[in-house]
Formats: sequence, C-alpha cells, structure tokens
Amino acid sequence: MDDCIFCQVIAKKLPSKMEYEDDDIAVFWDINPQAPTHLLVVPKKHIAKISDFKEEDMHILNKMVVIAKNVAVRLNLNEKGFRLVINEGRDSGQSIFHAHLHLLSGRRLMWPPG
Ligand code: AMP
Ligand code: ZN
Repeated sequence: MDDCIFCQVIAKKLPSKMEYEDDDIAVFWDINPQAPTHLLVVPKKHIAKISDFKEEDMHILNKMVVIAKNVAVRLNLNEKGFRLVINEGRDSGQSIFHAHLHLLSGRRLMWPPG
C-alpha cells in the first residue's frame, strides 16, 4: 500500500520512534500525542479498519491486544492505568485508514470520551 502512511512507517520509508516490532505487529509513538504516553499498535498487514478484519485475521487482532498489554506492563503503565482505543469511520475521528490500537496513559483520562 504505497499511499498508506502506516505501511510506509512499517517499511521504514517514514521515520518513527519504534517501541516494539515482530513479524506481525509494530508499536510506535504517536506523532501528535494526546497523552504523555501515546503509542500506536499496528498490524503489519494492511487492513483499513477494524470491521475489515476477517476470521483468518483474528489472531492478529488478538496479538495487538496482548502486545499492547505487554508494552503497557513493560513501561509500568499498569500502575496508574492506561486506555486502549480503536477509532473506526468518520464520526469516531479515524484519520489513518490502516487499523490501529491507541495505547494512552500518563494522565487522568476523561470518561465519557469527547
Ligand atoms: P486515528 O485518528 O484513530 O486514525 O489515529 C491516527 C493517529 O496516527 C493519530 O493519532 C495521528 O497523530 C497518528 N499519526 C499520523 N501520522 C503518523 C506518523 N507518521 N507517525 C506516528 N503517528 C502518526
Ligand atoms: Zn497500510
């Protein structure tokens, strides 16, 4: 996906602050953080949005959550708490159409979200 920003980050054609990487998943710091810790957990396979995940992709979705949890624990975010967020579609504010999980922490997060 040549025109996809996250595919370019994964392919190292765009710079990023990479926190974790394996064959299936990349975790890098958000370029416009909404909290002191704001990471993006991104599948290496280009899947545009969460509703596009097919049955055969479910292991990737599962792994995204497990890795988000592992990174959160490694950075001690679980001591005070963290939030995982997935946006889909216009009304949610999704701006990058390569599915991703936001990992937010480091401040008191409001509920309900804006
Ligand atoms: P969403 O609005 O849920 O689609 O989230 C997309 C996120 O990607 C936003 O929080 C952006 O700040 C972030 N973002 C956009 N471009 C980059 C980039 N090159 N590197 C890291 N984060 C990015
Ligand atoms: Zn992509």
